[in-house]
Amino acid sequence: MNRIRLSFLFLWAAAVPLWAQAPQTIYTNGRFYTVDEKQPWAEAVAVRDGRISAVGKAAEVLASKSETTRVVDLGGKFVMPGFVEGHAHLRNLGEAQLNLKLGSARNWDEVVAMVAKAAKETPEGQWIIGRGWHQEKWDIIPADTVRGFPTHALLSKAAPKHPVWLTHASGHAAIANQKAMALAGVTDQSANPEGGEILRDTQGRVTGIFNETAEGLISAAYAKSQAALSADARRQQLRKALRLAMMECLSKGITSFQDAGVDWETLDQVKTFAEEGKLGLRLWMMAFGDAASLRQRLPEYRNLRQAGNGFLTLGGIKAYSDGALGSRGAWLLKPYSDDPSTSGHNVTSLDDLAALADVALEFELQLCVHAIGDRGNREVLNLFERKLKGRDLRWRIEHAQHLNPQDIPRFAQLKVIASMQGVHCTSDAPFVIKRLGEQRAKHGAYVWRSLWESGAIVSNGTDAPVEDVSPLASLQSTVTRVSRDGSAFFPDQALTRAQAIRSYTLNAAYAAYEEPFKGSLAVGKFADMVVLDGDLTQVAAEKIGQTRVLQTIVAGEVRYRAP
Ligand SMILES: [Zn+2]
Repeated sequence: MNRIRLSFLFLWAAAVPLWAQAPQTIYTNGRFYTVDEKQPWAEAVAVRDGRISAVGKAAEVLASKSETTRVVDLGGKFVMPGFVEGHAHLRNLGEAQLNLKLGSARNWDEVVAMVAKAAKETPEGQWIIGRGWHQEKWDIIPADTVRGFPTHALLSKAAPKHPVWLTHASGHAAIANQKAMALAGVTDQSANPEGGEILRDTQGRVTGIFNETAEGLISAAYAKSQAALSADARRQQLRKALRLAMMECLSKGITSFQDAGVDWETLDQVKTFAEEGKLGLRLWMMAFGDAASLRQRLPEYRNLRQAGNGFLTLGGIKAYSDGALGSRGAWLLKPYSDDPSTSGHNVTSLDDLAALADVALEFELQLCVHAIGDRGNREVLNLFERKLKGRDLRWRIEHAQHLNPQDIPRFAQLKVIASMQGVHCTSDAPFVIKRLGEQRAKHGAYVWRSLWESGAIVSNGTDAPVEDVSPLASLQSTVTRVSRDGSAFFPDQALTRAQAIRSYTLNAAYAAYEEPFKGSLAVGKFADMVVLDGDLTQVAAEKIGQTRVLQTIVAGEVRYRAP
């Protein structure tokens, strides 16, 4: 990997003199927070050919001005490197814009009402898809629940002729109505697949809730109905979803996006976009599949690095060790405090994870493993230790949410990146102590600061569409750890502003081997910037999330401007 990267950097450096001929834009009269320790603040930035050609005092930068230079006055606004979303899902984010958004529903009745309305507007037999419900966040507990989850009864009544499939906010559980279960052939007698569960009531009847791998039973039926669409209809739908997702990201100041697990169809589509020059922001993708399918497909994408002028890279392989905490799928060392019958699930066997590690080594890709529970994290650290043998290949643990205190220093020791999401902490806080108990939560849950101080590289993101993709909201959570109800979740573990900003820019770039050209405002890097209407180093912490994005600039061009 290092050899490839060095030769790439050499070519890139050799191209420098050519920029001198390209037209220049100078952004001036801004308060540029550079995230560059050598020069933390600047007054102007010059851009040539999509890259920063000068940064510093206005007089110095303006000295390179010629007749053809375009000078843009930023009106004294705060400017910083564009946000690097460290872990989210582009296609799902786009589809979430197309489907029912259930995150704002205050209770189950509201979810059912949204489905009933959709059923009226949707031709009979067509699927109604939604995402984002979360039983722990509702103001009223539904009358009919099993292990805290609603059952399909009301849903089946609201839409008897449409298959309905509503994914939990975490993505690790979902609820189906009777019609969807019938199409999928699920009955009370259906067996639980390995690594998942079909939730049943005390009489053994299916409740409509499908946990972890059991979700596949219904998604397969949905996929079958989608596959019946014409290839062109599918392609148009996908292009539309991806475009919506990119627009959403740009409107929130994101200039680079790390996709935590892409399917081949989406990868081919973004590759086409890159070739057409239609990627609005830069993408860094993790491939997803089992070892055999990856070995078969990856050779086609071997050189997919900085394609389309630095807009598309396939850099990682995504895997899952466990599920999520909300659905009690996170794999714990000891049972759940609020359900001692379970310690969660291991969703990809340790042998299969080891096989994926070998594929990552063979194809020089970073291995990025989802681990939420303390057991899940420990097993992944053990695997990384065995496979890395002391090498620094920037392998990543995605989420790294609940750690046994003994495992905290191992991230820095093994050079494993903690790819975390600030906003998860404040949105999960209402149920973390229930699930883990006070002690485990205090010493091991979302321990941003302990990880940072131990020397680990911590990057930031949102896991959108699990959460809103807004980096500003996630930054606010990272520095305050205060939830919507005003309570703070172990605020000792908050990061400082400078650390939080770094986690969302330079560290996230580092987590993808991209810090040579992203993550700070420095000569030679991509001119990816965001202009805000507040100074993130000074605005009140509880106001960070309300800061407005005024402009998002990618490769020196304004790709989003606030209306
Ligand atoms: Zn994710």
